[in-house]
Amino acid sequence: MMTDQLVERFNLRSRLRFNIETGQIWLDENRMLLMHAKAFGALRQEVLETLGRDRAKGLLFRMGFVAGQNDAELAHKLYGEADIYDVFKIGPELHAFEGLTRPTIIEADIDWDKGTFFGKVRCENSWEAESDLQLFGNSDEAVCWNLAGYASGYVTQFFKRVIIFRETQCVCCGDAYCVLEGRPLEAWEDAPFLRHCVLSDAQETHFEDLQKELWQLRGSQDEPSLGGKLVGGSPAFRAAFDLLAKAANTPITVLLLGETGVGKEVFAQWLHDNSDRTDKPFVAVNCAAIPAELIESELFGVQKGAFTGAHTSRPGKFERADGGTLFLDELGELSAAAQAKLLRVLQTGEVERLGDDKMRKVNVRLVAATNMNLQQAIAENRFRADLYYRLSTYPLEIPPLRDRKTDIPVLVAMLIEKFAPLYHKTIPGVSDLAMQELVEYGWPGNVRELENLVERAVLLTPSGGEIEVQHLFPGTGQALPAGAAVDRDGKVGNAREAKMAQLYDALLEDDFDLQAHEARLLKLAVARADGNLTHAARALGITRRQLAYRLKQARER
Ligand SMILES: [Zn+2]
Repeated sequence: MMTDQLVERFNLRSRLRFNIETGQIWLDENRMLLMHAKAFGALRQEVLETLGRDRAKGLLFRMGFVAGQNDAELAHKLYGEADIYDVFKIGPELHAFEGLTRPTIIEADIDWDKGTFFGKVRCENSWEAESDLQLFGNSDEAVCWNLAGYASGYVTQFFKRVIIFRETQCVCCGDAYCVLEGRPLEAWEDAPFLRHCVLSDAQETHFEDLQKELWQLRGSQDEPSLGGKLVGGSPAFRAAFDLLAKAANTPITVLLLGETGVGKEVFAQWLHDNSDRTDKPFVAVNCAAIPAELIESELFGVQKGAFTGAHTSRPGKFERADGGTLFLDELGELSAAAQAKLLRVLQTGEVERLGDDKMRKVNVRLVAATNMNLQQAIAENRFRADLYYRLSTYPLEIPPLRDRKTDIPVLVAMLIEKFAPLYHKTIPGVSDLAMQELVEYGWPGNVRELENLVERAVLLTPSGGEIEVQHLFPGTGQALPAGAAVDRDGKVGNAREAKMAQLYDALLEDDFDLQAHEARLLKLAVARADGNLTHAARALGITRRQLAYRLKQARER
C-alpha cells in the first residue's frame, strides 16, 4: 500500500475511465491504451533490430519522454493547488498506475527557486527490463530507455528545465532492481549517453533527406498547393478544391454554393490570389448587409445630384474592382432592380452610375455566392432566371464541415496557430477528449463556428496547457469522460456500481448500525411510494407481506 497514498488522496482512480461501449480508456482527458506488454515488447525488439541500438534507444527514450510530459501536465492540472513536492511525487505513482514499473524516490535534492535538481529513483518490476531479459537475455548495459525517457519528460515538463535521467543500475545487468539518476542536461558530461536522448545529427540529416524526397514526390504530382487559409485533405474538400483550382486562372464566373459559414469568401479570395488578377483589387460585398435602397449605389456608383443627398459622385464596387475580382456574397438577397442592373453589366461589360447616362467599361471577374436555393427563388419569382443562368456556368458546392470531419484536426491546429499569438499564449494543442468532442459535434455554423469556438478556447485556456473540453464548451459541466471508474480494489464497475461501492465504503467507515439503516431505508421507500406499501415493497425487491413484517419489527425495536 506504500505507493497508494497519493493516488488515493488525489482520487486518481476516479480519473481513469473504461468505456467498453465506445472502445476507449481515458485518464482524465488523455486517451490511454491497455496493451499487451508482449506486443509492446515485440515492437521494441523489432525497433532495436532494424534501427540499430543507438537509434532505437533514442526512439524509446523520446516515446517515454512524451508520456512523462503528458503526465506532468496532468499532475499540474489536477493537483496544482496542493504542495508542489507532493504533486511532483505523483510522477512515480502515475508511472506505477500505468503499470510500467514501481518507482520509489530514494534521493531528491531539489531547489525549486534555484532550479537545481538531483534525483535518484529505484524502479522495481520494470516492464522494459522484463521484456528485454525475455527476448535478449542478460545485457552489459542498462536497457530501460523508455522508463528513463518517462522520468526525464515528467521532470523536464514539471521543472520547466531539461532534466535527463539515465539508468545506473539495471535488472538486465544482474542488479536486484533498476536505478534512474536525474540531473540537468548540462550536468551530464556523458556524450554517448546523451546522443540518444536528443535527436542525433545522423537522424536529423536523415529526416531532412526524407523531407526533401517527400517534397519532390509531391512536386511531380503537379498538384496545386493549398495556399491561403484553405486547408483540408478530406475527399469532400479535395473534390471542391480541385474544381476551384481548375477555374482559378480563367475568366469564368464562379458561383459558390453552400451553407452559411463554410468559408465562401476564403474560396473566393483563393480564386483571386491564384488568378492572373492577383495584383489587382479583390473587392467583397455582402449583399445581405447593405440596405436594399443603397445596394444599387454601392454596386454601380452614383453621380452627383442623382438623388437628394447625393452631394458627390463616387464609383461603385464594380469600378473599384476594375481589373480584379468582385465577390458578391448572399447574392440571393439582391432586389429586383439590382438584379436587372447586374444582368446588364454582365451582358455588356459596362456600368452606369445612378443618375448618370455615361457607360463605363469595367473588366471584372465576378465570383458570386449564396446559401439560398436559387432554383426555388426563381420558382417563387424572387430571382431572375436569366441572371441565374449567367451566373451558374460554373457552380461549386462547398461541403459543410460535418461532411469533412477528418479536416477538423488540421483546421484546429491552424486556428490555434492563428489565435495563440493574438492572446499571447503558448498552446501545444487539444486534449484527446476535446478533439473527440470537436469531431463528434454537428457544426451547424460550419468553419466559422469552429473558428469562433477555437478563439474563445484559446482565450480560456491557461498558457502552456492544452485546450480541454471545458474551454471549448464552457458550462456543459462534463468533468470526466464517460465510462466506468476503477474502485479501491482495482475492479472496474459500471457507473452505478461504482457509486454504490462508494456509498457502502462511506457507510462502513463510521460505526455502522445495520438495523438503523434498514429502518431508514424502509421509511424512505414508503415515503417515496406515497404510503403505498405494495409499490414500496416492489422498490425494495421484497413482498408486501415481508415489508409489513419488517416495518413492524423496526417499530418495536
Ligand atoms: Zn532497467
